[in-house]
Amino acid sequence: MSAGAPASAQPPASAQPPASAEPSASAEPPVTAQASLRNVGKTFAASRERSALHALGPIDLDLKQGEFFAVVGPSGCGKSTLLEIIAGLTAATEGSVEFEGKPVRSDVPEGVGVVFQEDASFPWLTVEDNVAFGLRRTALSGGERERRVRDALGIVGLSDFAGSYPAQLSGGMRQRVCIARTLVTQPRLILLDEPFGALDQQTRLLMGDEVLRLWRETSATVFLITHALDEAAMLADRIGVMSARPGRLKDVVQTGWPRDRDSRVVERPEFGAITARLWHQLREESLKTLGRVDAAPSERSAAAVHVS
Ligand code: ADP
Ligand code: MG
Repeated sequence: MSAGAPASAQPPASAQPPASAEPSASAEPPVTAQASLRNVGKTFAASRERSALHALGPIDLDLKQGEFFAVVGPSGCGKSTLLEIIAGLTAATEGSVEFEGKPVRSDVPEGVGVVFQEDASFPWLTVEDNVAFGLRRTALSGGERERRVRDALGIVGLSDFAGSYPAQLSGGMRQRVCIARTLVTQPRLILLDEPFGALDQQTRLLMGDEVLRLWRETSATVFLITHALDEAAMLADRIGVMSARPGRLKDVVQTGWPRDRDSRVVERPEFGAITARLWHQLREESLKTLGRVDAAPSERSAAAVHVS
């Protein structure tokens, strides 16, 4: 029995949804959803170049306050579209989205921060000014602005590089600049779209640790899209597996990891079981995507799953 291993009584990948648990006097109060998606779908309208495209849905999903939710799915299944709909950057064509009880419409709600895949740092600004750019729409005193930038740089481990320019940093550090730019707004929900896609494997694992740390330190909810099954299995409390386009939630896997975790969970036997389950679900969907680029809607296997 290793002394360092946190006790984990629950079977990881096979955990039942809490909804099916027996009610009991000592049950914890119900966890309220921070973001709710009901019957959400997106069809891109036909244009002169192409016909209409049903890209996503229907999707039902509740994100719980403070959880780490990852999404995996084959390329082109609608992951980014889903994230953009939650962020208010793209309008759903069906269904409704709420953040903290208010409908999400045509703008990023206050309290939501978005980090994209590509390195979006501005090469002509210092690290500090890149991060402060995140506060451009907020009316804060100079002192509060400085404090927030300092704190965000501390969380991503770039305090010593405040005066550097992006070109002087590694790819992983530049992506941390982008994460810090989102953190200064003190988001309660952080949406990340394949933020480590361009990084090598080792850097990705270490960045995963950074994200886990900032998730714990900020208490924010994290919604992470990734194409890497190991990343999802290592980081998340729950992992939504999407079908081929139009993307729906095919399965939601609960990892059962303790909150205080890091990349060393990859050494645990449950880790293999979780990634195996993810791959089992995804293999068929990925083959559909590979086999027929313009695959027909996968009506058979992709029943919408209501996740609460
Ligand atoms: P993923 O992030 O899973 O790779 P996306 O959400 O980017 O997938 O895209 C889902 C599908 O919607 C793809 O087939 C893509 O080509 C299509 N799509 C995305 N954005 C648009 C758009 N603005 N207009 C038309 N089709 C789009
Ligand atoms: Mg994408």
